[in-house]
Amino acid sequence: MIDLRSDTVTRPTAAMRRAMAEAEVGDDVYGEDPTVLGLEERVAGLFGHEAALFTPTGSMANVLAVRSVVAPGEEVLCEERAHIARAELGAHGAHSGITMRTWHAPDGRVPVARVQDMFAPDLGPYFVPTAAVAVENTHNFAGGAVVPLEQLQALRTWADEVGTSVHVDGARIWNAHVATGVPLTTYGGLADVLAVCLSKGLGAPIGSLMVGSAEAVAEARVRRKRMGGGMRQVGVLAAAGLHALDHHLDRLAEDHEHARMLAEACGVDPAGVETNIVVVPHDDAAGFVARAAEAGVRIGAVGPRTVRLVTHLDVDRAAVEKAAGVLAGL
Ligand SMILES: *Cc1c(COP(=O)(O)O)cnc(C)c1O
Repeated sequence: MIDLRSDTVTRPTAAMRRAMAEAEVGDDVYGEDPTVLGLEERVAGLFGHEAALFTPTGSMANVLAVRSVVAPGEEVLCEERAHIARAELGAHGAHSGITMRTWHAPDGRVPVARVQDMFAPDLGPYFVPTAAVAVENTHNFAGGAVVPLEQLQALRTWADEVGTSVHVDGARIWNAHVATGVPLTTYGGLADVLAVCLSKGLGAPIGSLMVGSAEAVAEARVRRKRMGGGMRQVGVLAAAGLHALDHHLDRLAEDHEHARMLAEACGVDPAGVETNIVVVPHDDAAGFVARAAEAGVRIGAVGPRTVRLVTHLDVDRAAVEKAAGVLAGL
């Protein structure tokens, strides 16, 4: 089976497993796991921020990051298909008492003027005040779309003017960085706080980080423990993340090329595929998925008329060519 359902399906490579087995560990709740501390320091540095916090999932990193800039009773603005709005099961409301209003952008980009119109200043006890704007880069359900740097810059400038914060859900910010060449520190410098995943295209079995100021991360460390996310000798997991950053970052360019090959096979314009996700419109998504599975290719329906393909580390060139042949014939 060639599995193109998601870039979360990757299994740790032999070299990654060795790095995990050899990791120095300690009790991370006591702050004594040198590998976790090393990973947190490294990722904070990659984005030019003061600190980072290792979390089991990207959802937890998002909850902690958003909560660090939005208090209970305040709101965050985001796109209507954002992971924080649709795929975290209401966590921001359930855990943090935060509400959301959403904008609609089929291309996954940030319509800055629209966001400005939606912004609600604190007018006293009348309206929910906007405390942050959340941007997903790359945008998962918009087909791995990269948010243009100019939009992020415009958003930052305006956010500083009105005094609101910017959160970046950067589960796949690595893909945006590799696709555009924009330095991670540039992306980091335009955000107050970020969430980044090691468990997507980078190929670690688990692990994400919240990235931000030393103060925000210190508070998030307390909240993480309160949520039951205080972990012990997880240097074995952090080691997988460090290995992934060393060996699996630059190769994301291959995934992007593979995604364009698959797009072509499915009749989708490859020029519109910016990273490792291909969204294929199909009249009968479920039927297409079932026929692909019978032919040895697993893909996923993300709507009644939408199929999603995601390329990753465990699908090499030969497998992509084979999958392209199968999908083109369906
Ligand atoms: C995968 C993903 C996350 C985090 O998901 P977890 O499964 O909780 O690790 C967050 N944001 C986006 C855009 C994602 O694709």
